[in-house]
Amino acid sequence: MRLYNTLSRQLEELPPPPGPIRMYFCGPTVYQRAHIGNARPFAIGMWLRAWLRHRGYDATLVHNITDVNDKIYDAAPGASAELAERATHWYLEDTADLGLGMPDALPKATDAVTSIVAFIEKLVDTGHAYEASGDVYFSVSTDPGYGRLSRQKVENMEPEEETPLKRAPQDFALWKATKPGEDTSWDSPWGAGRPGWHIECSVMAEDAFGPVFEIHGGGLDLVFPHHENELAQSLALGHDFARIWMHNGLLTMAGEKMSKSLGNDMTIRGVVDDWGREVALMLLLSGQWRKPLDFNQGTLEQSAAQLETFRNVFRSPSEPVGDWMELEAALDDDFNTPEALAVMHGWRDHELLRRALGIFGLDSVGEAEEAPPEVAELAERRREARDAKDFAGADRLRDEIAAAGWEVRDVAEPPGYRLVRRS
Ligand SMILES: [Zn+2]
Repeated sequence: MRLYNTLSRQLEELPPPPGPIRMYFCGPTVYQRAHIGNARPFAIGMWLRAWLRHRGYDATLVHNITDVNDKIYDAAPGASAELAERATHWYLEDTADLGLGMPDALPKATDAVTSIVAFIEKLVDTGHAYEASGDVYFSVSTDPGYGRLSRQKVENMEPEEETPLKRAPQDFALWKATKPGEDTSWDSPWGAGRPGWHIECSVMAEDAFGPVFEIHGGGLDLVFPHHENELAQSLALGHDFARIWMHNGLLTMAGEKMSKSLGNDMTIRGVVDDWGREVALMLLLSGQWRKPLDFNQGTLEQSAAQLETFRNVFRSPSEPVGDWMELEAALDDDFNTPEALAVMHGWRDHELLRRALGIFGLDSVGEAEEAPPEVAELAERRREARDAKDFAGADRLRDEIAAAGWEVRDVAEPPGYRLVRRS
């Protein structure tokens, strides 16, 4: 199996099963109901874990929660901890409702502060970081390879924040001294403060897996500065870090990047409530994970139609049409889910299709649909009419069943008919 690695800009072969394949996918900053864009790395991580396990790998997924951050302080002045806790609960609830199961661990930044402080101390001791008025900054000039992931020259990089405390504009904060109005803080050798964003992930990944692991994932918008900085910090301690960096394309809406400022925000909750989880998942599957994906009324409708096409296969008799190897070929080649869907659309073998849909959390599509009681009753009356040789009556009942959206098909097995939803 091979995957595209942002670091090498190439497709790279995974080690043979059973691996292990340890995956760390960056999670959300929790201060509001999560945007549907956050569902993409979550779903990709969960699907990839499912597929790797199917292929005999010992695969684990860790997905962090950033529960201390400027955005959270700004969203709930004086009550950021309560908001972060509430929004963490929303995120867990909304992603659980996608029906893909959950990652193996969901560490929170605030639970990792002791390890974070210890990590920063090592960076300070080795001369890679310096303290300034209670803040601690990573010194980019101590890393000759800085820019390796985003392939930028240091002098062209956009500084994250301007402050006279930094020795160089591209240096970034590892620890931030508490500012007035911030309601959470932790003790450290540099005084009361809280961790910077990038250091959290270096530390939580190492806490989960040790310094070196196989796959680091996240949205394309995290390449710089977040992942560039994670990589610099971790390499500074003299060991390797993630081997493969997977960056998923961003969700767009009618071609524009979805963001709240554009007024086209959609939450996971809203999409699942309005369209159902199966449609949301089908839409996410329809795009190759590295490419942008447009989330709009039209693509949602197309996804609903695709689901209906799969349901129709289950409404017809199973035929031995389908080759599992074709699915393996698609998914083993950079986890190409649209290609996998194209393969599955050619299948007529119910068992095979049900197995494949199950990898993506869509087993429900292959489940028999039960007719409502009033339709079942009409079908029973039709059977009685036929038994009594009242064929005109039986035909009338068949029409009534059809008008209710169902088709009655006569079969050999008892009760002698089967109800199938009309497409
Ligand atoms: Zn991260």
